[in-house]
Amino acid sequence: MPLQFYNTLTQKKELFKPIEKNLVKMYNCGPTVYNYAHIGNFRAYICSDILKRYLLYKGFAVKQIMNITDVDDKTIRDSQKEGLSLQEFTDKYTQAFFEDLEKLNIGRADVFPRATQHIHGIINLTKKLLDNGIAYQAKDGIYFSINKFKNYGKLSKIKLNETITGVRVKNDEYDKENAQDFALWKFWNEKDGDCVWESHFGKGRPGWHIECSVMAMQHLAEHFDIHTGGIDLIFPHHENEIAQSEAATGKKFVNYWLHNEYILVNGKKMSKSLGNFFTLCDLLTQGYKTRAIRYLLLSSHYRQQLNFTFQGIEAAEKVIEKFDIFFASLDEVKKRDNTVENEEIEKIIQRAKEQFEQAMDNDLEISQGLAAIFEFIRRINVLLSENKIGLKNAAAVVDFMKKIDSVLGVMHTEESVIPREIIMIAEEREKARKKKDFAVSDRLRKEIISKGYILDDTNTGYRLRKK
Ligand code: AMP
Ligand code: ZN
Repeated sequence: MPLQFYNTLTQKKELFKPIEKNLVKMYNCGPTVYNYAHIGNFRAYICSDILKRYLLYKGFAVKQIMNITDVDDKTIRDSQKEGLSLQEFTDKYTQAFFEDLEKLNIGRADVFPRATQHIHGIINLTKKLLDNGIAYQAKDGIYFSINKFKNYGKLSKIKLNETITGVRVKNDEYDKENAQDFALWKFWNEKDGDCVWESHFGKGRPGWHIECSVMAMQHLAEHFDIHTGGIDLIFPHHENEIAQSEAATGKKFVNYWLHNEYILVNGKKMSKSLGNFFTLCDLLTQGYKTRAIRYLLLSSHYRQQLNFTFQGIEAAEKVIEKFDIFFASLDEVKKRDNTVENEEIEKIIQRAKEQFEQAMDNDLEISQGLAAIFEFIRRINVLLSENKIGLKNAAAVVDFMKKIDSVLGVMHTEESVIPREIIMIAEEREKARKKKDFAVSDRLRKEIISKGYILDDTNTGYRLRKK
């Protein structure tokens, strides 16, 4: 089956075909940097990371842009509360965001453009929309007139005359022609303090939606392949991005819109406003591994809700342990002296590879992909216990697992590499054990544990893994 994605725009699965033959251009809505991101937010970034990694796995080149929203009501309000300049304040949380991305092994985008560095482009696009007659000036800002964009609602399927519920439409707060019109540029008011930029139409600051249109067009193209975000961004944010961009360029903005579902806690969306959130730091201080947290976030399909529970992370910890033990067992084959190559292994690898790709090609059905990998591990473990895996076989299995891990990013990381120092102690201990010098053997085993590793005795020797 060729690669397919569910496109929010058409509400069906579609074959994926990039505009340029081999290069995929992708934009991900990034964080508003006014606080630490919670793991609900990281689900969105893990989903786009898995998407990017799978595109790379399939042989595409990917250009990925993720914006940093560093000016809006919340960043202005909280920087003032902390007595910091907007830049000092947002730099702090941008840095924290990058550190968390790295810990979660989320690959970096090619560019992380910031809204405040694109004010010029935002002013130009606003001017273009004013010149086109699609935007208009009100008392407190420049607004986009959604009635003038005939395809408004094509992404979210919202009908203009229906009341929009659950969305903050501040009808009485602004001097707008239509309650649903949205601000491209907000004129300065005293709450903004010194967060202000000059423009042809009056000093002020950008509205939220326009930054993504500008940054996507500047760093990718006026028409590009994939745009992602959580489902809460479909309306109004992405609907408005389409309206502004297409009204300005006359071109289709994006071909494929992919949206991830929420992480829930007790049935409710994990969110800052409900206070039911966990940051990465919260979970790490409770002793959970970053690889387990990553695994938990990626292991269910991106369009399905994921209920966050501590049993869920504990189950993920067990999976990580299973991967580590598998790699350690494969490594152990090197210590066997009577290994024979098994001709079946290539076929078993090929079958697992096909099943994994079939699942992932089908709109990134990762749980089915993972099921194929677990079945593969189970079969190889049986062969390992029967001593039916040769040296070359073990190397081929490791290569295959690494290839799969180029998509998953949870297996063969630094964390699971055993340092040489620990291997040397384990070798010393093995010698002592063979000589039946149990006092030395016990002491060395304790030393290994005190350094954060576990040594298991097996029927062919020993196996090391990280605690
Ligand atoms: P924000 O910083 O609030 O704009 O959110 C950043 C990204 O996280 C957006 O793509 C949101 O849709 C996504 N997001 C926020 N909360 C959750 C959640 N509980 N589960 C999944 N994604 C979320
Ligand atoms: Zn955006």
